[in-house]
Amino acid sequence: MSAAATIALLGQPNSGKSTLFNALTGLRQHVGNWPGKTVEKKEGSFTYGGKEYNVADLPGSYSLSANSDEEVITRDFITSGKADVVCILADSSQLQRSLFMLADYAGINAPCFLLLNMADVAADQGKKIDAAAIEEKLGIPVIPFSATDVKSYDEFYKTLEKAIRKDSRLDVSGLKEQYESIKGYQEICNLIPEGIIPGYSSMWLASKVLENDRVVVGKLGNALDAETFDRIKEIRKSSQGAVAVGGCKFAWIDDVIDGAIQSKSVKVTLGKLDRIYTSKVWGKPAVVLTVLLGLIASFIPAIPPMIIGELVLMLKEPVAAGLSAIGCAEFIILIATDVIIQSFSYIFKMLGFVFGVTLVFGLLEEVGIMARISYVFDNTMGKLGLQGKSVMPFLVSFGCTMGGAAGARVIDNWGQKVLTIALAWAVPCGAAWATIPMLSSIFFGPGAVWVVTVILLTMLLHMYVTAKIFGAKLVQKEDRYGMIMELPPYHKPKFGSLLKYVLGRTKDTFFRVIKVIIPICAIFWFLSYTADGIAESTILYKIGSAIEPVTKVFGLNWKLFTAYVASAVGKEGAVGVLTALYSGTGSIYGAVVGTNAAVDNQAALLLANIAKPEALAFIFAVTFNVPCIVALAATYKETHSAKWTFLISLYYTVF
Ligand code: GDP
Ligand code: MG
Repeated sequence: MSAAATIALLGQPNSGKSTLFNALTGLRQHVGNWPGKTVEKKEGSFTYGGKEYNVADLPGSYSLSANSDEEVITRDFITSGKADVVCILADSSQLQRSLFMLADYAGINAPCFLLLNMADVAADQGKKIDAAAIEEKLGIPVIPFSATDVKSYDEFYKTLEKAIRKDSRLDVSGLKEQYESIKGYQEICNLIPEGIIPGYSSMWLASKVLENDRVVVGKLGNALDAETFDRIKEIRKSSQGAVAVGGCKFAWIDDVIDGAIQSKSVKVTLGKLDRIYTSKVWGKPAVVLTVLLGLIASFIPAIPPMIIGELVLMLKEPVAAGLSAIGCAEFIILIATDVIIQSFSYIFKMLGFVFGVTLVFGLLEEVGIMARISYVFDNTMGKLGLQGKSVMPFLVSFGCTMGGAAGARVIDNWGQKVLTIALAWAVPCGAAWATIPMLSSIFFGPGAVWVVTVILLTMLLHMYVTAKIFGAKLVQKEDRYGMIMELPPYHKPKFGSLLKYVLGRTKDTFFRVIKVIIPICAIFWFLSYTADGIAESTILYKIGSAIEPVTKVFGLNWKLFTAYVASAVGKEGAVGVLTALYSGTGSIYGAVVGTNAAVDNQAALLLANIAKPEALAFIFAVTFNVPCIVALAATYKETHSAKWTFLISLYYTVF
């Protein structure tokens, strides 16, 4: 087999890059970050015709200007020589606008071909596009395509092979002619020797000088002698800038598609649903309702794996019996049952929910409802530096923080995704809602209403403060615009490809979270292990009592503090741990994983031992604690950053 060829996918947001990438590579993909940047890097591979291909899904924006890290990374990658061919995607349903990326690419020296994606949508709109005519003008292979339609892929593979074989280059003469009409352009172009910055033609560099692209200007400053560079800067000052260059690109695009698009007029009407979503009064409630219904729907496919998660626990006894029959030490048996089997039970329950959330919210995205959610909440979320879609993980987090983290997948900007998850942690989850009202009413009777109200207010404040603290680092200024968007037409979902994708995601999640859940369970089990069954002989007690002077300042004695720590494994365990500690029955770990026997008079027991201020401190500490172990695992999985998962955990602990 010859060496693998690398394909780079280039296109504006929502042009279908990720859909194509997932369809090509299936599960053979790897998601990480570009070195030193908060930008997601997606690579994958596939074989076709006995040949190996690597694919890079490039982080997209609207152009290749140096407006953001994403754009600079993208153009550096393309020109680095790592890409053997660049696959440019345009959206056929709005061809004029989406060809801007191609126009900005023109002048970069790498072989390429063009996919007119969303051909199905264009057809629905009554548009007929003559790909051959466009191909003629551009000099590269151009094909109509539907990333969501398996039948499109044969043609794709053939075109890919052809583009590589023929080393097909974009014909940019028309655009160059346009540029030459700008005063000073030709002169700048002549001052830049061809090949001075590898991968870029002097035509491209000159256009970026006029746009005053800081990265290009910086590179030219290093590459050229001072005299030439000063001369270029001088010419630029007296020339028209970015607007003129943009105008040339649009003129070129118009010329390229001239005569290639025929449209029958089709009536576009806002459906009944859209009249509700776009209503000033009903828009937000409608979105909230949609997401909550989605959340409920997510639980349905989650039920079977959750049942498996429960059944796995039944293995504990036979495994323990088997191991002790072959003479295993007590210690090992406990690790096998309480740590390993217990972890798998958690993992199955988690996978069920991840599967449900990914499926339901993937569906909402594909159908076009996610775009409506973005549209309605963009301004509100924009104030926090987020996208409208972020409202979805927040709402899901009222049910389950893990679901919120998994749902943040639909946010395509990595920094905004991490920030969304960081804020979603502040939302009290279902388990917290099971704990807070119960403890509050034990200690404060009807005053519990106030506790809950203040918790909600604290949540909002917490989210605001957290956005301020992490926002600057995670979300670049340029990304903080409200999106200018149109509501896309509703699509019929493609269940086959969606399901394949969701299953792939779930499988991937499984292997990643194992690495998080088993060690944390093991550590906590070890800390709370006692050979004699007395809480005072655990390491947790030793740590707790040693730092009690500190935790006392916050109103927590060692027992409360231990229960607080335990609630980081599972919030529903907090009350159980308290009960175990104050009643002296059951183990701490057993309380967390829910295997202790029930205790009578729990309320009386707690009331007798814990003062009201302590209880209040405890309720707040547990609510705003780090979320449970599975949510932590999901956060790590989605951000693929141990650093950020740790930073956010640390921040929540300090808070
Ligand atoms: P990216 O931002 O370029 O990665 O775009 P995505 O791959 O996320 O696609 C954006 C949306 O368009 C998704 O909801 C896709 O399901 C949908 N989509 C992508 N390609 C097609 C297509 O050819 N036809 C239709 N109908 N939808 C598509
Ligand atoms: Mg994408």
